[in-house]
Amino acid sequence: MKKKLLILLFLILILILGSYLFYNIKPKITLYGNDVITLKINTSYEEPGYKTTIFNKDITERTIVKSNLNINKLGKYEITYKINYNNKTYEKTRIIKVIDNNKPVISLLGEGILEICPNEKYIETGYIALDKYDGNITDKVIINESENQITYSVENSIGNKYMTARKIIKKDTINPTIKLNGNQLITLYLGNNYEELGYTATDNCDGDLTNNVTITSNLNTKEEGNYRITYTVKDSSGNIESINRFINILTEPKYNEKIIYLTFDDGPSNTTTKILDILKEEDIKATFFVINNYKKYDKVIKRIFDEEHTIGLHSYSHKYNEIYKSEETYFEDLEKINNKIEETIGIKSQIIRFPGGSSNTIAKKELMNKLIKSTKEKGYIYFDWNIASNDTSHISSKRIYNKVISQLEKYKYNTNIILMHDFSNNNKTVKALKEIIKYGKENGYRFEKITERTPQITHKIK
Ligand code: ZN
Repeated sequence: MKKKLLILLFLILILILGSYLFYNIKPKITLYGNDVITLKINTSYEEPGYKTTIFNKDITERTIVKSNLNINKLGKYEITYKINYNNKTYEKTRIIKVIDNNKPVISLLGEGILEICPNEKYIETGYIALDKYDGNITDKVIINESENQITYSVENSIGNKYMTARKIIKKDTINPTIKLNGNQLITLYLGNNYEELGYTATDNCDGDLTNNVTITSNLNTKEEGNYRITYTVKDSSGNIESINRFINILTEPKYNEKIIYLTFDDGPSNTTTKILDILKEEDIKATFFVINNYKKYDKVIKRIFDEEHTIGLHSYSHKYNEIYKSEETYFEDLEKINNKIEETIGIKSQIIRFPGGSSNTIAKKELMNKLIKSTKEKGYIYFDWNIASNDTSHISSKRIYNKVISQLEKYKYNTNIILMHDFSNNNKTVKALKEIIKYGKENGYRFEKITERTPQITHKIK
């Protein structure tokens, strides 16, 4: 009895297991070759094959293959391998990509033709390789470096290749630069010695070339005249640069004559042109302490220089509160206007007038003392005035004239530095100027421009 029950239980177990296997074993579809195949357009597709099994029994011929592949048209297609089993459908899919003959493209970042110094090592500036189908394949780029070019080549997944190159030109066509310490124009009195103020030379490829500078000079401090010192340097590629320093040797001035120095601040402007016309007519040289004005007036600066007047430095911004913040801000402003002058006429100036004069009430006394000391150390000469025209006030030309003449008659200086202004539309000064010149000529004054040898007129610091 017990044995029969055991057999019965065993049979039930077999039955359960059998039906479980019957309902749960799935047919297996195996695809040979890749699941994704890329083909060129207008070629042909060869089926890599497939196999369908169940319980290791080959039922491949029951497989239904469906495909929408059109090898003559670009696109992405599917081949499905299907089998129906036990009222269920089992399938696998193969993707076919039909593509054209497109090539990948390499784009070079940076210059296509690169000029570098002969002694410089090439540094890769980058590249990107893109393919219509493979996407970004920059990591597949192969680089070949030779003496005068870098080649970049890449191949996409269907074997199309692309190659490009970057040309490397190893040469140096840029001249070295020489910077002079101190001023480019120096005035000395007869018998004084010129001591070399120094210089530095640098090159874009060779670096510091100061020690390679050669100096030639025709300077003779024992004879009045204009001399030049020429500094020359050559870089390793043969580029030559040279720069001159001009030395004027003068006899010491005599101070027993009555001289008027006409000075004009705050130009250039439309007023300056009118003043220059009068000066030309009267054959008189004067001094212009310039600021940075509109670009259109740069040609007026050029005219001042060409007509041999003195260009003095006044200020770039003419904003007292900014300029007189510190020694640094003062020199920043001064060097800015000096650089502009150099760009416009080719040389710098060493004659300056502090904005508001050295007696201005904006700069602190300590700062003003410092500025006077350091401008001198840097080779600048500053000039204030001893005759004020008051032409910044709203007064008539007649009053400007009276103001100037009354001071000339009262003080009877030998050196008379007259302060006037050539800011825009200052016609009263233009009008007064004619009369002042007339008075000066009739009363034995000589008109001179300020130079390095003009006796310095300076104010008390406030
Ligand atoms: Zn001013």
